[in-house]
Amino acid sequence: MTIERERYNSPITIMCDGRKCPEYIDTETSDFQGAIAKAKSRGWRPVLITNEWSHLCKDCFTEHRRDQSTPNAARETLPDDKDF
Ligand SMILES: [Zn+2]
Repeated sequence: MTIERERYNSPITIMCDGRKCPEYIDTETSDFQGAIAKAKSRGWRPVLITNEWSHLCKDCFTEHRRDQSTPNAARETLPDDKDF
C-alpha cells in the first residue's frame, strides 16, 4: 500500500500498487479509515500480495483477480497424486 500525505494531518492520497499504474485517489480526508472507505467506494480493493497489503484500483483489481482464477494457475496449486 502506498499512501502519501505532506503532514500527519494532511489529506491522504492513495496510490495504486499495480504495475506501472498511474491511478491515485485524493481522498480529501486525513482519516485513514475514511480514506480506505473512499477508495473502496470507487472500486479499489486491498489485496494480499506476497504477504504485503497492496491497494489496487478497479482496473488492476480486475486484472489481478483474473490472474488468480486462470485454470492453469489453479491446476498448479493442486496436488497431482490424488487420483491414485
Ligand atoms: Zn491500478
